[in-house]
Amino acid sequence: MTSPDRKIIIAIDGHSSCGKSTFARAIAEKTGYLYIDSGAMYRAVTLACMERGLLQGDGVDQGLLAETLGEIRISFRKEPGSSVPQTWMNGVNVEEKIRSIRVASNVSLVSKFSIVRSKLVSLQRAAGKDRGVVMEGRDIGTVVFPDAEIKIFMTAAPEIRAQRRYLELRGKGMEADFAEVQENITERDRLDETRPESPLTRAPDAITLDNSYMTLQQQMDWFCDLLSGMNFSLKCRT
Ligand code: C5P
Repeated sequence: MTSPDRKIIIAIDGHSSCGKSTFARAIAEKTGYLYIDSGAMYRAVTLACMERGLLQGDGVDQGLLAETLGEIRISFRKEPGSSVPQTWMNGVNVEEKIRSIRVASNVSLVSKFSIVRSKLVSLQRAAGKDRGVVMEGRDIGTVVFPDAEIKIFMTAAPEIRAQRRYLELRGKGMEADFAEVQENITERDRLDETRPESPLTRAPDAITLDNSYMTLQQQMDWFCDLLSGMNFSLKCRT
């Protein structure tokens, strides 16, 4: 049983574009925990595969994929004055590139491979070995940290998710077509939920949060209430 004073793991999984990153980052700020965006790691590997021309149709040469994985170093860094971590790969800031619709269209093809998952899952476990992390993704509560003390499964209505992602891309000055964004989200969920290895699924002990009609503040109030009712010394900072 977890001692109330022990650092815990907060695992947040869920559908594409339902605001997991924003919510997880806000929780990390409220608790002082480390925030890890596991999806950014899958996106970075996908970008590396695209840059090396490894993606031809649905298949990827496993030998070249293994070689690529061996050469990738992923890290997260915060720019001075920003609370949002940026993704770096082999010494280059790839944050903008990994958020493009081209990477989003290929990421579920790459993330289904066992060799990719085992490398990234071991990096994620290493990042959370001292606990005290908020990690978000698709399989954090089911595979990466099945012993996470708090598991949240997030979802929202598909059209609301598409609208949010569309506005986010446009807000960053990136090209975006609403129908394409919607199609990408639906297809990514389908591929993520049906892949044989570590499919996106709600852990039986996860608490569902449907944030379709919730502001970030309402989501944080919900989380802080949840935490205050649990037997951990960790509480939301005021
Ligand atoms: O969270 P985000 O939308 O950035 O994730 C991009 C993709 O990375 C997902 O659609 C999924 O294919 C993959 N992913 C995964 N397992 C995770 C996190 C992300 O397979 N833990």
